[in-house]
Amino acid sequence: LEYTEGIFPGTREELVKKVKESVKESRFKHILGVEKSAIELAKQNDYSTEKASIAALVHDYAKERTPEEFKKTILDENLSKDLLNWNNFIWHGVVGAEIIKNELQIKNEEILNAVRRHTVGDVEMTTLDKIIYVADYIEEGRSFPGVKLARTIAKTNLDDAVSYETKHVLEFLLSQDKVIYPKAILTYNKWVAE
Ligand code: GDP
Ligand code: FE
Ligand code: FE
Ligand code: FE
Repeated sequence: LEYTEGIFPGTREELVKKVKESVKESRFKHILGVEKSAIELAKQNDYSTEKASIAALVHDYAKERTPEEFKKTILDENLSKDLLNWNNFIWHGVVGAEIIKNELQIKNEEILNAVRRHTVGDVEMTTLDKIIYVADYIEEGRSFPGVKLARTIAKTNLDDAVSYETKHVLEFLLSQDKVIYPKAILTYNKWVAE
């Protein structure tokens, strides 16, 4: 896969190398799995495989940064102060997008938005947002009850896969008494509720 759209200033191999150096081996494997799934979903939905590849390769790029770095980035980039009340699960996407912009010279907002939205989704989601959100959930390394059905649904209809994932992640978080990020409820209301 040669990059030709000018979104990342380098080859796929150069981007893969930077990502590999930024995360532990198990997460790097997950990221390559997300890329494979994202490229398949892109083909099925007549979408750019290059954008799918780049967004997938960077989606968890910042996942292993410290809380101190995320908090500094929130302040330096003038992001919403409310983000300071949250933690890694929300920071690695929303704040991670700024780290990707600064360190990887990827300025394309479609790519950055897909990273920002990959954990809890959003009310409005582009095709790329949906591809990364779903690929993250169904990549070949994932094994949880329901992942096979999620893969089957994703092959048929991307919106239905967004809905299935949103519902089942929320059910899981509720069963574990986890705090729910408010936007996750908005995503549920848009993509699941009648
Ligand atoms: P990953 O980065 O590949 O592990 O996947 P995600 O970015 O999709 O999710 C990161 C973590 O955040 C997972 O453990 C999710 O279960 C968790 N998560 C997603 N939404 C919420 C939420 O609303 N509240 C809480 N507490 N955790 C969430
Ligand atoms: Fe993630
Ligand atoms: Fe996810
Ligand atoms: Fe991920």
